[in-house]
Amino acid sequence: MKVTHIGAALLSPFPWVLVKVTTDEGLVGIGEAYHGAGVHQIAVDQRLTQVLIGEDPRNVDKLFHDMMRRMSASGYYQGAVMSAISGIEMALWDITGQSAGVPIWQLLGGKFRDKIRIYNDCHAGDSKSIESWIEKAREVEARGFDAIKFDIDPLPDQRDRYSRGISNDHIAYYIDVVKAVREALEPNTDLLIDGHWKHSPTDILQVAKAYEDLNLFWLEDPIPPENIDAMARFTQSTTTPICTGENFYTAHGFRELIEKQAADIISPDLAKAGGLLAGRKIADLAELYYIPFCPHNICGPIGTMAATHVCAAVPNFQMLEFHHLDNEIWSGLLVEQNLIRDGHIDVTTKPGLGVTLDEDAARAISVDNLGFFEE
Ligand code: MG
Repeated sequence: MKVTHIGAALLSPFPWVLVKVTTDEGLVGIGEAYHGAGVHQIAVDQRLTQVLIGEDPRNVDKLFHDMMRRMSASGYYQGAVMSAISGIEMALWDITGQSAGVPIWQLLGGKFRDKIRIYNDCHAGDSKSIESWIEKAREVEARGFDAIKFDIDPLPDQRDRYSRGISNDHIAYYIDVVKAVREALEPNTDLLIDGHWKHSPTDILQVAKAYEDLNLFWLEDPIPPENIDAMARFTQSTTTPICTGENFYTAHGFRELIEKQAADIISPDLAKAGGLLAGRKIADLAELYYIPFCPHNICGPIGTMAATHVCAAVPNFQMLEFHHLDNEIWSGLLVEQNLIRDGHIDVTTKPGLGVTLDEDAARAISVDNLGFFEE
């Protein structure tokens, strides 16, 4: 079997990037790359397509390394290029699974579970009022999710966004609103809070300390993650579990974070971190330190479904993110309907990715001047 074509599509209004790999035997694979400027163009750049066309798509790891080597002298790349490579890698796995007649998770070592627990990202209340946060939390919980995330982004009148300082009244607000949401939820519903890297360690540590009695599932990205020593110090300073990882790439990007146990939980984004086998390698590295693996995910249904195969195949998976509740476009992109039921996605038993893109639905929302899987 040989690869004959790589196509990409950019959707709108949410800029999901889909990748389609075609073969000479009629098998077609679909993947999704993390959205970003130019990612759909990089996926079909001839520097990538040259190393794929004519190759057997089932040599997934070799082709992943070939793509990295072609795109950089060192064989290691990050950013939009790695997002594009991640989307292609998923499509190669889709073809390989279909060719073997097994789901992708089977090729990644088999499955540990039959259902993938999904957490819903609520962002924030509809207003600053604590009641609106409680209302949203209860509504999402009533729709079957037993894991819910909210953001504590800096408020518009925050003192100085560049110094990351938080005023005392804002610290009190972050504490009060999260306490109120925690009390409003059922005891077995997990609550996650995301700080989006925007706070100074001394200020957000006061918040993390105040959360210690709330039994949060995690506090995500309280500070920027790139200084691993600063992350380790923060993580060791509070019993509130600390999560990070959505902006790291491949196992190399996670090595120091994991070896220094600078986070309690890791959240790689598989559509940018290198794809599905990279996800497996990152999860395995974390498992050496008993660190849970909870992928970040803002993909459409293709990237979300792709992630479930890794989540099924690694021991330390706990929950997978979902961002698009009530987005009918998200729900309408697959031939299969109701992918998420009662806060879970069933692990598929179908070959390859296990779902089918509704190409008419995708074409209808593609950015038309950029082509749609252009031949
Ligand atoms: Mg986040």
